[in-house]
Amino acid sequence: MKIIGIIGAGQMGSGIAQICATAGYDVKLSDLEQTRLDAAVEKIDQNLKRMVARDKIDAATAEAAMKRIATGTDYAIFGDCDIVIEAATENEEIKRSIFRTLVPALKPDAIIASNTSSISITRLAATTDRPEKFIGMHFMNPVPVMQLVELIRGIATGEQTFEIVRKLALDLDKTVAVSEDFPAFIVNRILLPMINEAVYTLYEGVGSVEAIDTALKLGANHPMGPLELADFIGLDTCLAVMHVLYDGLADSKYRPCPLLVKYVEAGWLGRKTNRGFYDYSGDKPVPTR
Ligand code: NAD
Repeated sequence: MKIIGIIGAGQMGSGIAQICATAGYDVKLSDLEQTRLDAAVEKIDQNLKRMVARDKIDAATAEAAMKRIATGTDYAIFGDCDIVIEAATENEEIKRSIFRTLVPALKPDAIIASNTSSISITRLAATTDRPEKFIGMHFMNPVPVMQLVELIRGIATGEQTFEIVRKLALDLDKTVAVSEDFPAFIVNRILLPMINEAVYTLYEGVGSVEAIDTALKLGANHPMGPLELADFIGLDTCLAVMHVLYDGLADSKYRPCPLLVKYVEAGWLGRKTNRGFYDYSGDKPVPTR
């Protein structure tokens, strides 16, 4: 395992690229447009410089990591990759079309991993020519900080694939939790209904944004309030996960809150668009409701 491909250079893809390059792997990062890739490389550079300033890594390690990251919008860059980790938008159609285009560009023995937060690994694997070499590798946000990687075997995932990817996660200094292939796996099966319930609590006027987040931070010892966390994850991703839970488990308890739907329709996606349950355009986040 030497060369790692990453599809999608958003919050997650850029974080995965950063830790892989810092750990000594060559990284090929791809997105739809070169401007997004340039922004991701700039963000990684800033993060690494901040780590150097805080004495977490030395300047030579940061410099070497940046040199290991190559970018491109054409999947031909993945031709020599040992594994490609897909971290594109949480939408099954988008992911399926990515895998269809990706497969012909890969080496026959290359592994494909998806960082999906919720979508069936078995179904995604079936769109490829190598379901036995397909696996769910679910990093947490922010990738360089969060300790966990959830590993999810699809029905056809081979034991060798699982072992290779488990070793990769450990080499990236992560701790592994194994989940069966059920909608939203373990973390988001539990976390997202809580966030959705927090949005209902706001929608029904039980509390303000500030009251809800303060209540959970100080009353349940959560490091972030649920609405703050929703903005951090991205409200589009939160809504997509609720849809997967609602459709996949056919239980009305997973019905996405209409207020969450409305925010996504408005393009208020949280931190990444500067507005969600908070407004991030000033020095400090300000509740929008
Ligand atoms: P994001 O919106 O920040 O980034 C998604 C990126 O994918 C964008 O840059 C977009 O241009 C790119 N993309 C879309 N279609 C593409 C295509 N066809 N080819 C290449 N790139 C394409 O989203 P994110 O938060 O980074 O989430 C990415 C994935 O990671 C999703 O599956 C999400 O569920 C999962 N995830 C997210 C979090 C989180 O907290 N945000 C945590 C764990 C996993």
